[in-house]
Amino acid sequence: MADTVDLFVIGGGSGGVRAARVAAEAGARVALAEEYRMGGTCVIRGCVPKKLMVYAADFSAAYQDAVGFGWDPVTPRFHWDRLIAAKDREIARLEGLYRKGLETAGVRIHDARAVLDGPNAVRLSSGERITARHILIATGGRPFKPDIPGAELAITSDDVFHLPGQPRRVVIQGGGYIACEFACIFNGLGSDVTLVHRRDELLRGFDRDLRAHLAAGMAARGIALCLRRNITAIARAGDALAVHLDDGGVLDADCVMMATGRVPNTAGLGLAEAGVVLAGNGAVEVDAYSHSSVPSIHAVGDVTDRLALTPVAIREGQALAETLFGPAPVRPDHALVATAVFTRPEIGTVGLTEDEAREEYDAVVYRAEFRPMLATLSGREERMLMKLVVDAASRRVLGCHIAGPAAAEMIQLAAVALKMGATKEDFDRTVAVHPTAAEELVTMRRPSG
Ligand code: NDP
Repeated sequence: MADTVDLFVIGGGSGGVRAARVAAEAGARVALAEEYRMGGTCVIRGCVPKKLMVYAADFSAAYQDAVGFGWDPVTPRFHWDRLIAAKDREIARLEGLYRKGLETAGVRIHDARAVLDGPNAVRLSSGERITARHILIATGGRPFKPDIPGAELAITSDDVFHLPGQPRRVVIQGGGYIACEFACIFNGLGSDVTLVHRRDELLRGFDRDLRAHLAAGMAARGIALCLRRNITAIARAGDALAVHLDDGGVLDADCVMMATGRVPNTAGLGLAEAGVVLAGNGAVEVDAYSHSSVPSIHAVGDVTDRLALTPVAIREGQALAETLFGPAPVRPDHALVATAVFTRPEIGTVGLTEDEAREEYDAVVYRAEFRPMLATLSGREERMLMKLVVDAASRRVLGCHIAGPAAAEMIQLAAVALKMGATKEDFDRTVAVHPTAAEELVTMRRPSG
């Protein structure tokens, strides 16, 4: 007799794991299939290992800054293999915790690939067929590489965490989160980095002051920004690589990384055959409750191409499980989601950019740019940027944008205020914490425009 569950989750990443656990805790019979490692992109080859590498990269600046505070200069040596081994141990530990959390909740784990076999069944690579009242597609995304000659010679963010050694010269293509973050990581670790991006500015969609500030900060750290350029071909040149650009230029590199976006992982899952409507890029089309066009099939996380961020996938997974097995339907809230880019300078942002706000509102902008205190004695040429975008009529703060040390930590708390509908006067009434950079957020008195 065929095995039957209430919920079968395909994909053991952030969204799938949360949905499975919450559903099981609500009493549902739940099974989850993961073909690779439990934890998905975030834990295995994304946010977590990336942040560990950001920490590693930051020590080079700390060693230099220490001299201004009375420490002897040292010439530290970085060992790539030690970092990778330590990072791998931590990732294995986290993977174990994810697995244990599922098992404790009573979720049956299948270490196998699952594909749909109609709207109410999955077939596992082990040959097993399982029927399910509901199926959740939480298969995430994968890196996309432009189709150019020699593209196979370039790595993506999937490979960067396991390079056998630290590349001396790195060329990165793209101007988004991953390109900018890894440009800063490799730069901090001591590699020569060139970032090739097809536009004038990095981080499309972010506030324009943040974009300018980031580019200036990255350039000041020695990252070569090759803007308005595209890579047309990559070829082997002895032990190295020759990177051909569309202006005829050629860059020498030991490693080329394509960070040119990600695409939803839906190929070969049997979705179209089961009647699920997919968008042009393969994303599962879902409604506000994460239901697909087939009543028994749902999708959360990057595979839906809404907001490709881990905490958003977790919220979507939680909401779906509550909708299916809780007392009332729950819609995940995609408004005012704060996000951070772990570049150097770091970026934290929530709400409307200045340009977006001006389209909809009579917007006033408050802006502070200053030298962070650490940079005074260290002598580092470093500026910090903070910006509040305010609706002149209601005085509500519509957007908060920060570039500089600890921007990611600050923006989380600013997001609480924005989510509560804080006005500029609410910020002003809040007494500063001194001496911090964050105090500038509550002491910007005069609009800058
Ligand atoms: P992004 O979509 O952020 O950036 C992709 C970049 O590649 C853009 O600059 C884009 O340029 C460029 N690009 C796309 N196609 C081509 C092409 N054919 N030729 C040349 N350039 C191209 O994707 P990422 O891969 O950086 O990251 C994927 C997603 O993962 C992010 O959007 C984010 O949601 C998530 N993420 C979040 C992180 C965080 O929270 N800190 C960290 C890393 C990833 P253009 O701007 O012109 O389109």
